[in-house]
Amino acid sequence: MPRVGRVGTVVTAAILAFCVWLLGGWGSQATRIAVEDIGFVVLALFVTGCCGHAAWRQHGRQRTVWIWVTIGMVGYTAGSVIWAYHEWWRGENPFPTTADAGYLILPVAVCVALLLMPVGTSGYTHTRLALDGFIVAVAFFQIGWWTLLDPLLDSGGAGRFAIGVALAYPVLDLGVLTVALLVLGRVQPAQHRPLALLVCGMTLMAVADCVFVYSNMLDDFTVVKYGSVAWASGLLLIAFAALSSDVSLDDHADAEREISPFDMWLPYVPIVLAMAAALVRFAAAPELAPALIASVLLIVLVLLRQFIVVGENRRLLVAVEAQAMTDPLTGLANRALFQDRLAHAMVLHRRDQQTVSVLSLDLDDFKLVNDGLGHPAGDRLLVQAAERILGCARSSDTVARLGGDEFVVLMEGDPDESREVIHAVLRAFDEPFHVDGHDLLLRPSAGLAVAAAEDSEQSPERLLKQADVAMYSAKRSRSRGLHTYSPGDMPDVDERGGGHTAPNAAVHDSAVAYQLLGELRQAIDNRALTLAYQPKFDLHDDSITGVEALVRWPHPDRGLLGPDQFLQLVRDHGLMRPINELVLTQALNQIAQWRDLGLEVAVAVNVFAPSLSDLTLPAGVEQELSRCGLPCELLTVEITEDLLLGNHEHTHAVIDRLRERGVRVAIDDFGSGYSALSYLRELHVDELKLDRGFVTAVLDDRRAAAIVRAVIDLARELGLTTVAEGVENVETATLLKDYGCQVAQGYLYSPPLSPADMLSLLRSRRPAPGATISS
Ligand code: C2E
Ligand code: CA
Ligand code: CA
Repeated sequence: MPRVGRVGTVVTAAILAFCVWLLGGWGSQATRIAVEDIGFVVLALFVTGCCGHAAWRQHGRQRTVWIWVTIGMVGYTAGSVIWAYHEWWRGENPFPTTADAGYLILPVAVCVALLLMPVGTSGYTHTRLALDGFIVAVAFFQIGWWTLLDPLLDSGGAGRFAIGVALAYPVLDLGVLTVALLVLGRVQPAQHRPLALLVCGMTLMAVADCVFVYSNMLDDFTVVKYGSVAWASGLLLIAFAALSSDVSLDDHADAEREISPFDMWLPYVPIVLAMAAALVRFAAAPELAPALIASVLLIVLVLLRQFIVVGENRRLLVAVEAQAMTDPLTGLANRALFQDRLAHAMVLHRRDQQTVSVLSLDLDDFKLVNDGLGHPAGDRLLVQAAERILGCARSSDTVARLGGDEFVVLMEGDPDESREVIHAVLRAFDEPFHVDGHDLLLRPSAGLAVAAAEDSEQSPERLLKQADVAMYSAKRSRSRGLHTYSPGDMPDVDERGGGHTAPNAAVHDSAVAYQLLGELRQAIDNRALTLAYQPKFDLHDDSITGVEALVRWPHPDRGLLGPDQFLQLVRDHGLMRPINELVLTQALNQIAQWRDLGLEVAVAVNVFAPSLSDLTLPAGVEQELSRCGLPCELLTVEITEDLLLGNHEHTHAVIDRLRERGVRVAIDDFGSGYSALSYLRELHVDELKLDRGFVTAVLDDRRAAAIVRAVIDLARELGLTTVAEGVENVETATLLKDYGCQVAQGYLYSPPLSPADMLSLLRSRRPAPGATISS
């Protein structure tokens, strides 16, 4: 601002000289009056020019503000001219005159200008600012009245009107100052300088006005020169305020700042002082005391109440603010807060090249908990999951729930430390959750996206999206670890047709999933799902001990879909029961058909774990068996899912009833989930199907081999048949046989087959009738 600098120096020098002269009071009385009056007119004109110039340079709200200050200065200039006319030209010294009307326009106009200043959205409304200003003004009027004016009037000094006008000066000035102080805290920082200068200028004017009132009231004119100096300096500061107002200000940039307690209580201070002044006066007039004291008391009580309400409001505000930012169920950050933190982290990332990692977690099969145990239990589980994740995070990390069973963790800084947090989070899900007496093992699918230090192009939205894509990749592969985003990861369905798209890919694109769901419902209604059959072999004599029915969906456009591609939809949309029924009916029909051909073969069907709490299941199963004329012993029910509701009373009852009728019950994927051992203790079953993961590991992993061996021993001890799943080579088969495993299933023997191929296989093998049911 070199212009302000140059103009400022010249004008300051001139005004300093003027002030020195005012204080010195050299020359004759007439010269003094002439120089002072004309000096003030010139000064006022100059300041008006500065303010007009500021208004002209500005735009929008800022322009209106400076137009009002200019109006005030025009009034002040007019007052100075009228006063010069009276004092210098006519040689008279009247009070009040029309000059006072001109002078008083300044505080009023400045007050309007201040109220028009663009203030922050969360702050005061302009009406409230104006009211605060008025409250202070009236309070000071009252203080002035009780301390100065009332005694003066009693003593029969100046006329009432004159006193009113005289008092209007300090009262209006104080109102302006209050509003100015309140506005100062709420405007953009760029406005601070001009506003502070304006406030200082108005303060000096207020001081001058007080001196003026004092000298007028008490006819003491020795102090007037100090008032004049204060006026001159006040005007100079207003000119500086106009010259330093910044044109680059934006009306809409809001100053969202907390209202400070100072802002809050400032208007009340003068009220309390006014009450005190009134009380002092009442003490001197005992006849007024009872009524007036009661009035004062009332006001004090109202004030007290206001104090309390304001306090309560502040607490409420804090609570509401916190609520708007947290997830009500878990108390974690919600999406809004997370996005805010992420955006902030990305700013630091760009500025300080700091690594930002986002971990996206989605609990697998959470729907089963909701469906099986009800939503309150689901909620309790989510709370526990939230606690575990939070327990692993550092205080600098942000853990949020974005909805449903979706969690995210935002980590900044050293990627190795972030990795440790991630591993801790994943390990935290190794222990089962205890919900309503059930032990539930629930694991998350986890995806990680990292904005590395050197990657300055990354945006917060993209980073979160990448973490989600990575998480879906993890879910698709059902891999238990962490999937880190790489640019090859595809968020969308592989639309190339051809049948085996990535498992579950379709399910996660919501539009596609919606369409697929409709088609699936239709397929179920039209009985368009089919079954493949995979034989199980006796490890000792290679005979076929039975077949497992595996559901397939021949999709008109997408080809033959495997269970991985649509069972999630089945679980999520309550289609488990119709699928169970469809599979059972088809499988039993098939077995009956083969039986008619003289091939008696046992069949295993997979049943979703939550269906096992359906007390009508055993009767339904029995009915189907008898409809097909099949003995119960030919059917095995495999309980799938890693999440089995082991303690559910109904599950016990259903399993027992099935077994009472002679239906066999198997635990599927044994060893893949938690509580495998506790199932064995609690549930009475006939068969254990060793999980493929275990079986493939036996050759290379000594520990896995030891566990498999122990499980087989244990099963034998409990009278259960062990079936090894996923046997792909002879070595594994041999080893399992050595361990005492009875039955094997896997690609080594046969993949799942179409009914026709299965029939050919059965025909070629012709198992002896006694070997059909493994025991
Ligand atoms: P599961 O019950 O463990 O079925 C065995 C799965 O392993 C089948 O996959 C089968 O094709 C595959 N498999 C068999 N031998 C081998 C092998 O040697 N190596 C490898 N890598 N895999 C082998 P599929 O048919 O995709 O079924 C996947 C899962 O879907 C099943 O796992 C079962 O949990 C579920 N499922 C299938 N059909 C039904 C059904 O009708 N109802 C229910 N509730 N679930 C079903
Ligand atoms: Ca199975
Ligand atoms: Ca299995």
